[in-house]
Formats: sequence, C-alpha cells, structure tokens
Amino acid sequence: MRFLPLGVGDAFSAKHYSSSLAVEADGQWLLIDCPHPVRKMVREAAASAGIALDVAQFLGVVLTHLHGDHVSGLETLAFYYRYAIRTKLTLFTHPAVAADLWSKHLAGSMEYSLPAIGAAPVQRMLEDFFDLRLLDENQTAAIGPFTLSCKQTLHSVPTVAYRVQAGGRTLGLSADTPFDPELIAWLKDADVIVHEAGGAYPHTEYDKLLQLADDVKKKMRLIHCPDAFDAEASSIKVLSQGCFYQV
Ligand SMILES: [Zn+2]
Repeated sequence: MRFLPLGVGDAFSAKHYSSSLAVEADGQWLLIDCPHPVRKMVREAAASAGIALDVAQFLGVVLTHLHGDHVSGLETLAFYYRYAIRTKLTLFTHPAVAADLWSKHLAGSMEYSLPAIGAAPVQRMLEDFFDLRLLDENQTAAIGPFTLSCKQTLHSVPTVAYRVQAGGRTLGLSADTPFDPELIAWLKDADVIVHEAGGAYPHTEYDKLLQLADDVKKKMRLIHCPDAFDAEASSIKVLSQGCFYQV
C-alpha cells in the first residue's frame, strides 16, 4: 500500500491545497476526503509523482467530516460522476457524519434539477448521486483490496479517524482532532500514522505530539499544518503534496 497526498494544508493555507490523500493498493485507489478542486488536485499530484490518475479510478471516497476543507469537492465530484462518468459515487463515512451531509450540506445546490427551460424541477435525493456505505465504530468495511475501520474524534463537528488496511499493512489517519491519547492508542499499531498538526483546539498542537513515544513519532507523518509551521525544523516528518509514501 502507498499513498499520495493531494493536499497537505489547513483550511486557511495559501501555500497548499487542503488535506486529502489518494491511497493505492494492488493498482486500486481510494480517496480520503474530498476538497475542491479535487480533479485538479489529483491531476497535479499525479503529474508530480509521475503517474496517470483521474477521479474515475477511485473505488470511492472516504469522508472524515463536513468541514469545507475536507468536503467542498464532493458536490462537484458527485455531479461529475453522474453527468460525465454516468455512475454513482461510492462514499464511506460514519452515520453521524452522513446525518447532516445531504440536508445541511449538499441539498442546497443538488436537490433540484431543471430538465429543460420552463420544465418543472425534478427533486433529487442523496441516493441519486451516491452509493452511501455507512461504517460504525464497531464494524469494518471492505472495498477492493482495502478494509476500513473508524473511530470518532473530539473535533467540533462529528468526525472520524480511520484505519485503512491492505496487504497486511495499516495506514492510520487521525482526521481533524485535538490531541487525544485514546485516539493515539487506537492508531499506534498502524505501520504509518498520518496525524494532523493544525495547532490549537479543535486541532492538535505539535508540542503535544512531541511528547509521544519515539516509536510512534518515528512512523508518524504530519499533515494539515499551518503555513507558518516550519516543516524543515520539525522532528516529526511532514508530508509533501504530490510525493508517494510507502506504508
Ligand atoms: Zn475540521
């Protein structure tokens, strides 16, 4: 398993796209979070890594939460799947994240379609665009070579961290969270842990991650850092946009 960061920035970044990963195993791909402009992000990261990749190749999107820097590309991607690829977009998330996805996030722009000028609007539902797969904390979900499990974090809206397993390897993803020893314990057996370092609550302060055991820090890679964060001086390695990482 390997992964390609499409973006590594926080929500306010002027340097990087918002944090998102493309994960590959056995030639199959998953997208972790979906910021706008996702198709351009995929194209640029793939070009930088020297591979060909487009959004049609993803088995599905794995969504951590509804903050815009993680979900703002989902509307366009679902429209692209419906009208350009002509299929539904597979979406994995926790029921608490899915609860507000349509009614409070997507319906405002996706609920009605005008089939022709002057025709009555046609009402759409989430199921017209998405194949939604709900994943509770006590479950696992399989898709292609991947097995997913999740755990809710202490962020300001319902948010889930993930473990992504394939080929006997595990990638741990903190998602957005304040520093949380319980979450670290859930992630610490992963072969690579991608942890956010967004700063003050509701994000994680870098200084708190520094207090972790050396073996955990060694396999940890930081993402979602503020632009002012000095990646070169960081003793925990920071992910780069458009570079492959082996798990
Ligand atoms: Zn967030």
